[in-house]
Amino acid sequence: MNKLGILTSGGDAPGMNAAIRAVVIAAQQKNIETMGIKGGYQGLINRNIDRLTPFDVDRIADKGGTILKTSRCLEFMEEEGRKKAARVLEEFGINFLVVIGGDGSFKGAEKLHRLGINVIGIPGTIDNDFAYTDYSIGFDTALNTILDAISKIKDTDFSHDKTTIIEVMGRYCGDLATYSALAGEGEIISIPERKLDFDTICSQIHSKMASGKHDNLIIITEKMYDIEELKKYIEKRLQVSVRTSILGFIQRGGSPSAFDRILASRMGVKAVELLTEGYSGLAVGIKENKIISIELENVNNIRFDYHEKLGLLDTFSIFN
Ligand code: ATP
Repeated sequence: MNKLGILTSGGDAPGMNAAIRAVVIAAQQKNIETMGIKGGYQGLINRNIDRLTPFDVDRIADKGGTILKTSRCLEFMEEEGRKKAARVLEEFGINFLVVIGGDGSFKGAEKLHRLGINVIGIPGTIDNDFAYTDYSIGFDTALNTILDAISKIKDTDFSHDKTTIIEVMGRYCGDLATYSALAGEGEIISIPERKLDFDTICSQIHSKMASGKHDNLIIITEKMYDIEELKKYIEKRLQVSVRTSILGFIQRGGSPSAFDRILASRMGVKAVELLTEGYSGLAVGIKENKIISIELENVNNIRFDYHEKLGLLDTFSIFN
C-alpha cells in the first residue's frame, strides 16, 4: 500500500492548511495513507511523524499558519542530513512525499528527488517569487491584509495631509508592493525590479505636493532601504514630516482568502494525482487558470516578465 508524507517548510503562508487538507482527502480517495511530518525537514530528520486522517484535517481550511508547523533546517542543507531524511522516509514506509514551501524548500525537495524519493512541490509563500506560476498559495491573502492596512493609513494621511512610507514583504519580488499599490492607490512605489533612489522619491513627492496632493503613500519592498533613513532624507530635503509603517508579520497570518483556499485545494489534488501517476521531481503551479506542473530543477530558470506590471504602474502614474 502507498503511504504519503506531507510537510510544510520555510516561511508559513495562509492557505497551507487548505493544501494539507486537500492532499489528505485526495490521498484517502486513492486508498493512500497520509503521514503528517511536523516541523519541515527538521521534523522529518527527527522522526516527528504521525498519521494524518481526513478527520484530523476537518475544518482547517479557514485557519492561517500551518497545523504541521514549519522550520528552517540547516542539517538538511548537507548531503548527510538529506540522506538521513531519506532513511527516515524508508523506515516509515513513506514512498510519496509532498513538500509545501518556497524556493529553498523546493531546492531541498529536488535534492530528495535525486536521492530516489518520489516528491512533488506545492508553492506556499506570500512573496509570489516564483516565475513559473502566476500565483503561490498565500499571496492573495497577504495582499488583502496589506490593502486593509493601506486603506486605514490612507484615511489618517488624508485627514492630516501626511506622507507615509509603508514597507511590505516580498523578499526580492515586488508583487506584493505592486499589486497593493495598484489596488490601494499608492502614489509612489519602489520595488526590487525598479528601485528608485532617494532623490527620485523626493522629486516625485515634490511634484505631487506642487500639484496640491499632500497625502502621499510610498510603498516599498522590504530589504531595499533603511526605512528610517529614507524618512529622514525626505524630511530634510522637503521640510515635511513623514510617517513610517513596517507592516511586518501581520502579512504572514490570518484566515486565507477564498482564492488561496481554492488554489491550495486544486494544487493539493494535483500533487496527489501526479504521484499516483508515477511522476516525481515536479512542482505544481497555475498558469492561465490551469493547474500545471514543471520540473523542480527548472523552477528558477523561468524568468519573470515584468512588462505588463511595469506598464500598469506607468499608466497609473505611480512612478511619475
Ligand atoms: P520562504 O520563501 O517563504 O521563506 P523557503 O522555502 O524559500 O520559504 P528557506 O528558508 O529558503 O525557505 O528554505 C527552507 C528550508 O529548505 C531550509 O531551511 C533548508 O532546510 C531547505 N533548503 C533551502 N535551500 C536548500 C538547498 N539549496 N539545498 C537543500 N535544502 C535547502
